[in-house]
Amino acid sequence: MRLERKHQKKRRLSLTVAIVSFVGSFLTLMLLFTYWVTPRISIIGFHGVVDLTNPSLGAILNPTAQRMAYPMQDLEKLLEYLVRSNYWFLSAQEMQDFFVEKSQPIPAKHKGQKPIMVTFDDSYKTVYTNVIPILERLERQYDRKAKMVLFINPGTLAKPDRPSTTYLSCKDLRSGYEKGYYDIQSHGQNHKNLTKISDSELLEELIQAQTQLRSCMAGLAPDEAIAAHLAYPYGDMNDHVAETASKYYHSGYLYNSKVMRFCWLKDHYRIDRLTANRDKPVDRLIQMADRAMEIKSDRPCSK
Ligand SMILES: [Zn+2]
Repeated sequence: MRLERKHQKKRRLSLTVAIVSFVGSFLTLMLLFTYWVTPRISIIGFHGVVDLTNPSLGAILNPTAQRMAYPMQDLEKLLEYLVRSNYWFLSAQEMQDFFVEKSQPIPAKHKGQKPIMVTFDDSYKTVYTNVIPILERLERQYDRKAKMVLFINPGTLAKPDRPSTTYLSCKDLRSGYEKGYYDIQSHGQNHKNLTKISDSELLEELIQAQTQLRSCMAGLAPDEAIAAHLAYPYGDMNDHVAETASKYYHSGYLYNSKVMRFCWLKDHYRIDRLTANRDKPVDRLIQMADRAMEIKSDRPCSK
């Protein structure tokens, strides 16, 4: 009798363990599934753009920059796909209002579109010489403008008395902005790793970049439209950098090869961004862009 009770107790215990582990695994799978299907936006991070048929046009000198540069012909294929498919090219402020802070409902005109954000870091001249002609050709052909977000280091911009084939000038920025293709944001003053400098240097990197970019764009754009968002050089940051940046910038972008799942975004200063260099085939970038959510409601995270 006693032995029978002991067996029953053992059976009940193992049944409870089995149920608990089943429920646990089920919940974990559900969580993973929810994370996987949660709405996403691809924020693609480019640097220079090299024309494989004419590499001397906008020469890119150092080997790291060479490796980071994306082939112009592939970029054109990507942009043409996105423009033809009527993607919504987000500016940094649109990203902020509708997907980061979510402070505003998405305007009805964007229903049915998929959002995308195309960014270029490090102020390379080729973003003017090799990208603007593509954008102009696409606008003529499809009657749509594609907006590029430029994260600029004013410290490396070419000076009026020192023209450069490597770096953009303020004149280039103004011209691209006037044509409606550029959104000008900050990448720090001199591309220093913000986690490895003193507090006073950190302030200088953040403030000077903003002041100089705004003065470059004076008369063309309101101050708040320029350098209001930051991409950390090397994608490197920590809590202290984020906290200091939050005094001058509305948001901060990483460079971590992750896709942005905006409904799960808790920290406006840790926005995921995809890396794009020569190792990433254009078809892969198209595939990643395609996984973005199609806008169906004005508040996609509220359900
Ligand atoms: Zn950079």
